[in-house]
Amino acid sequence: MVLDPGHNGGAGQAAENNKLVPAGYGRTKPCNTTGTSTNAGYPEHAYTWDVANRVATILRAHGVRVLMTRPNDDGVGPCVNVRASIESTPGVAAAVAIHADGGPSDGHGFHICEDSRTPEGASATTVARSKTLSYDMRSALDANSGLTRSTYIGGGTAFYPRDDLTGLNLSTNPTTFLELGNMRNAGDAAILSSSSGRARIAAAVAAGILAYLKR
Ligand code: ZN
Repeated sequence: MVLDPGHNGGAGQAAENNKLVPAGYGRTKPCNTTGTSTNAGYPEHAYTWDVANRVATILRAHGVRVLMTRPNDDGVGPCVNVRASIESTPGVAAAVAIHADGGPSDGHGFHICEDSRTPEGASATTVARSKTLSYDMRSALDANSGLTRSTYIGGGTAFYPRDDLTGLNLSTNPTTFLELGNMRNAGDAAILSSSSGRARIAAAVAAGILAYLKR
């Protein structure tokens, strides 16, 4: 199992972030971005790091081997294509990218980004498994994350097809990409900024992953 806590917290990452890297389908993209933050200044990278570690702790307690795409929250990188190569490690059952959105302040909730095409190098089986993984994540987040489905993306389905996310475009293992709340919405920001809110979200994410791994 690979967890990809989006972005990173190191100082002075602009030069590295601006390097162009392969993003799939012959495109290039910047190595990374700094991510969003709440209006009070709680940064997305700290949120994704905290949630991913909580998820990893729960999964490891269930005997799941977990690889993280970055070792700490004060470094630079790795670039998105390197994260995709970690997600593509042979034998990995699933990969989950963890992010939060910087959406419109009057919208709230989680959504799940899916590749709108077949990822480069991924088999039809992998594409179908990615879909199943996304559905399992949505069920678990619906059941007990403390967040609603997004009110501003996905038309109530919480699914958002995209063709520009490197991790989805390049991963050859079942992969999904979670936007766990809208940091620019006051209600979501309060949940995301609280330890109990993050514990509940992480428990839901872990439950979704465990449901998928039991298939
Ligand atoms: Zn992000």
